[in-house]
Amino acid sequence: MTENERLAKNNRIREQGRLTRQKRKGQICRVYRVKIDVSHLSRQQLLHLKMLFVEAKWLYNDALTFMRDHDINEYDTRTLTVHSLDKDHQPVTHDLQYLSSQMRQSVIQDIKHNMKSLASRREEDRKTGSLKYKSEYVSINLQQTGVTYKFYDAKHIRIQGFKECIRIKSTKQFWNIPDLEFANAKLLNLPDGYYIAITTYRNRRGEEREYKPEIGIDMGIKTTITVSDGRKINVFVEESERLKKCQRLIARRKKGSSNRYKAVKLLRREYQKLGSRKRDAANKIVHELLKHERVYMQDENISGWHKGLFGKTVQHSVLGLVKMKLMRNERVTVLPKSAPTTKYCPECGSLKKDITLSDRVYECTCGYQEDRDMHAARNMILLSKKNTCGTQGINAFGEDVRRWQTIAVQPR
Ligand SMILES: [Zn+2]
Repeated sequence: MTENERLAKNNRIREQGRLTRQKRKGQICRVYRVKIDVSHLSRQQLLHLKMLFVEAKWLYNDALTFMRDHDINEYDTRTLTVHSLDKDHQPVTHDLQYLSSQMRQSVIQDIKHNMKSLASRREEDRKTGSLKYKSEYVSINLQQTGVTYKFYDAKHIRIQGFKECIRIKSTKQFWNIPDLEFANAKLLNLPDGYYIAITTYRNRRGEEREYKPEIGIDMGIKTTITVSDGRKINVFVEESERLKKCQRLIARRKKGSSNRYKAVKLLRREYQKLGSRKRDAANKIVHELLKHERVYMQDENISGWHKGLFGKTVQHSVLGLVKMKLMRNERVTVLPKSAPTTKYCPECGSLKKDITLSDRVYECTCGYQEDRDMHAARNMILLSKKNTCGTQGINAFGEDVRRWQTIAVQPR
């Protein structure tokens, strides 16, 4: 390839990328996860799958070593042998046989990406470490649909480097959606099996939806989300008996023994299942709340609660997940932490200063009385309205709310 041809090709790629990014703006992104059916894999394929992750780990660690005294951009991704240390810290070399060229590139891309996020953290003056060697690699990027991976039919997928198709489960969730575009995918090595997470895009449809009236929600410390229309939503997912059993099992096994390793694997599986249950619960709650036209909530410090009073409960709250998912939606208004949602009296407009966590009922000198959480949830709507209508940015309490406005009104 001559120099001019190379430049022309680069330009073409850049232009294509720009067009795609523009198109994606008007589209909805969703990631679907399909499971690889290992019962239909040959021994050779199973080995291949396993070795992909092992080789990716070797390559990643080798590149980290290389970075000690070189620029990562100089690393040759076509390398066939990588160096590492075995468990007795003796140097060994490995040959890479399974990893395809695009997968190699994505592993190196992974390092560059990590470096970038470390740098941006450093810029924000947050605590940063350095990149560490990995003991296992769990996610390989399949960059290009049609090349690195390709659907054969609804039940089979072809992955670069494999001679035969691989059988997959649960494509029903997206197979019949019209005008669905596949983007990149990720090959995952999770505790309960191999998965492929496929990123898809589809066009927004111009459908008008009917929404229920607006609501305010108060995220209670104890167990629930309180909605201003009177509902209380339970946000706890309980740990399974089996999980506790696994933990006891590990405690009884000798450190470094293979039986302990097996028990740890079991525990990981249990934690993965717990994670899915939590995600499911959070999705259902968010779906229910977003049936409303607008949702008002407060930016509360949820992770702080866990450290304090209620950290030891064996129940797992999905409050953090719910909050994160809600804040991504444009129909959600987030009030700042400083908004006096518990102190403000909606009847007379005064602020009650001496309210503590143990007061379950809000009582005002004017005679107004309400359940504490319900009171806060209703105030969410009221106070966000007050802010947007405030003149000169000063609210009823003489506070400057111009700063609020930018936080409260801007959709996240
Ligand atoms: Zn009052």
